[in-house]
Amino acid sequence: MKICKECLYPENHALKITIQDGVCSGCRIHKEKYDIDWSFKEESLKKTFKKYKSKKGYYDCIIPVTGGGDSFFIVDYVTRILKGNPLLVNYNTHYNSPVGIYNLALLRSKFDNDFLQMTTNPRKVKKITKESLIKFGSIYWHCIAGQTAFPVQIAVKYKIPLIIWGAHQGIDQVGMFSHNDKVEMNEKYRKNHDLMGYDANDLVGEICDQDDLVNYQYPSINDLEKVGVRGIYLNNYMFWDSFKQHADMHKKYKYNFNIQNRTFDKYNYSHCLYYSDVHDYIKFLKHGYSKVNDNVSREIRLKRITKNYGKTLISFYINKKPKFLKQFIDWLGITNESFYFIMENHRSKICWNRNKNWNWDYKGEFLNFENKVFEKNNYYFKYKKNISKKFKKKTIVFEKGFDIK
Ligand SMILES: [Zn+2]
Repeated sequence: MKICKECLYPENHALKITIQDGVCSGCRIHKEKYDIDWSFKEESLKKTFKKYKSKKGYYDCIIPVTGGGDSFFIVDYVTRILKGNPLLVNYNTHYNSPVGIYNLALLRSKFDNDFLQMTTNPRKVKKITKESLIKFGSIYWHCIAGQTAFPVQIAVKYKIPLIIWGAHQGIDQVGMFSHNDKVEMNEKYRKNHDLMGYDANDLVGEICDQDDLVNYQYPSINDLEKVGVRGIYLNNYMFWDSFKQHADMHKKYKYNFNIQNRTFDKYNYSHCLYYSDVHDYIKFLKHGYSKVNDNVSREIRLKRITKNYGKTLISFYINKKPKFLKQFIDWLGITNESFYFIMENHRSKICWNRNKNWNWDYKGEFLNFENKVFEKNNYYFKYKKNISKKFKKKTIVFEKGFDIK
């Protein structure tokens, strides 16, 4: 497995990466950030946004929110800087952590925007998750498919043409496009990269039928064109640094986070109990790398950590067992043996090898990194008591929320 000599990203990255002269496409595109005239880009964003401003007090745009991720940063930017009136839209993943539920309530309370949520029938979510786990080893397909379909369906239904997203992962992580390409949301990228090559129609099979997948269908081109729907990414218009944005928003709005089991980034997907846990462990089994690689790569590129410290972090986290596997498989209704049996088919042969005892040996580089000094007092680990300690670590599907003053 080839890895980038600068940021340590592996060549078999799920979103596709190219390594030339030892340096990955993600690092090359990242360097653009230091040459771009961002104030010019931001002005062009303001002009674009103006065209979509409603004259009648209707919504100016849709913002997909999760209670984690970039939600606070985007809503703060659109309401405060662009003076917009967004409709906040949320696909309920069913994997909500207590922190995620709290943060969504905080978002609704702090910003006074209208909020719309879709909760798919739990029976359907389980059927889809079983199908996607068996077919392509993913427990997260329905989350990504729902998060990328529901806001677009609402844009069509409510006739709100502009959707504002945070970072485009194809640019920010792997450098598939330049910031100057101004890539916008499209169905082809969604299927091929976000959804691992499988859209809703590909899930129809022995377990799921077409009716189970209505909430995961991307609208037709005809419907999109009637309203003129487009989705733009803020990282094409401003210097994107998600860790700094999280830290700023945490300070400003007191939103919460979790210490993560499998990565050092405490903000990373803390709204979801499984993303940095079961889902990330599956990523390690499938591709031989993990979320900690994504976070290390970002921190090296932004020059906040050295490559050597990045290696220490990777070797510390990459092989940690998930904390919530039992809770997840109990919910799904499968056994531990079934889970590992399903994963057998999805292990990448680039990183995993059967030994003579029929066990799996890891042959990637990341476990060989020397685990030197682990600075627990480092900036990334500073941790205040927060709401998560008051709750049991259980997923919450339905929650009325809190009224936060
Ligand atoms: Zn790189």
